[in-house]
Amino acid sequence: MSYRAEYIWIDGTQPTARLRSKTKVLADGAEPGTWGFDGSSTNQAPGSNSDCVLEPVFVCPDPIRGGDNVLVMCEVMLPDGTPHDTNTRAKLRPIAEQFADQEPWFGIEQEYTFFKQGRPLGFPEGGGFPAPQGFYYCGVGADEVHGREAVEKHLDNCLKAGLSLSGINAEVMPGQWEFQVGPLGPLEVADQLWVARWLLYRTSEEFGISATLDPKPVKGDWNGAGAHTNFSTNAMRDNYDAIITACEALGKRADEHVANYGADIEHRLTGLHETAPWTEYNYGVSDRGASVRIPWQVEMDKKGYIEDRRPNANCDPYVVTRLITETCCGALATS
Ligand code: ADP
Ligand code: MN
Ligand code: MN
Ligand code: MN
Repeated sequence: MSYRAEYIWIDGTQPTARLRSKTKVLADGAEPGTWGFDGSSTNQAPGSNSDCVLEPVFVCPDPIRGGDNVLVMCEVMLPDGTPHDTNTRAKLRPIAEQFADQEPWFGIEQEYTFFKQGRPLGFPEGGGFPAPQGFYYCGVGADEVHGREAVEKHLDNCLKAGLSLSGINAEVMPGQWEFQVGPLGPLEVADQLWVARWLLYRTSEEFGISATLDPKPVKGDWNGAGAHTNFSTNAMRDNYDAIITACEALGKRADEHVANYGADIEHRLTGLHETAPWTEYNYGVSDRGASVRIPWQVEMDKKGYIEDRRPNANCDPYVVTRLITETCCGALATS
């Protein structure tokens, strides 16, 4: 007998990388090992020297195929065994290891938008716009929510794969939804988020709709799509001084963070629609117009976590968790 391993990797498309995958049939008992692909078709190599290497880093059950079949998240390597330039996970590994003693945890809220025939799901078929925002967020009823079947199926698939999803909700714009992954360590949350994204695209196929992580899918008075990143360390889960240290540290490197939080971030972080402008940094309790929010419960308990509201839906979680770990754990290590 045999089983199927779906190898998943991140390509070299600029400015926002895309997911790719292909199937390997394996004999029962065989492990999903190192494999390769044609990097000249993924913006990762010239045609004259096209081989790229897939190194498995995270394996989970494949909920789409079921049975013994698996999903295999990979790092992209060069044939000489060194990480490919586009391999952002390799850059996170040493940082995760350096600060492992602080036990950094991440919970990422992935927002996304369903599209059908070039329009967000729920936008009128003849063109134009639906009723303005106001009742769609966490709404119920066929006039307000669009795509719930696919959303439920996606959640189901993620849980069957063993991913640590912590919830889902309908968002502020019609056709817009969110799922949350975590809390988990930096590598784990990012691996799982990439697999959950792959499952989102794959599940949507079956419903004839597409999901996009476009940070501003509809211009004008409609919310963008983010990836709010909730973060804590053992010190932050213990005392408020550490919470403030982390918030202040993020302010000192704000430009570097924003520049690496996803393409077109300036279209989303306008200062409207529950965002702070991308050119400014601030933090505040319960403030959904701040760059970084301290949840009210955290202020009351004097410990817990913070929410970096800046990352775009199209961010690379390997990059976001590396920057936050580096900045906050770095500051906490010397405070
Ligand atoms: P919001 O109120 O901003 O919509 P959500 O409930 O969507 O918040 O997401 C909160 C996220 O924060 C969840 O993924 C949750 O697992 C995560 N989280 C909770 N506690 C912590 C913690 N101590 N450290 C990091 N993340 C946390
Ligand atoms: Mn949320
Ligand atoms: Mn949200
Ligand atoms: Mn949030």
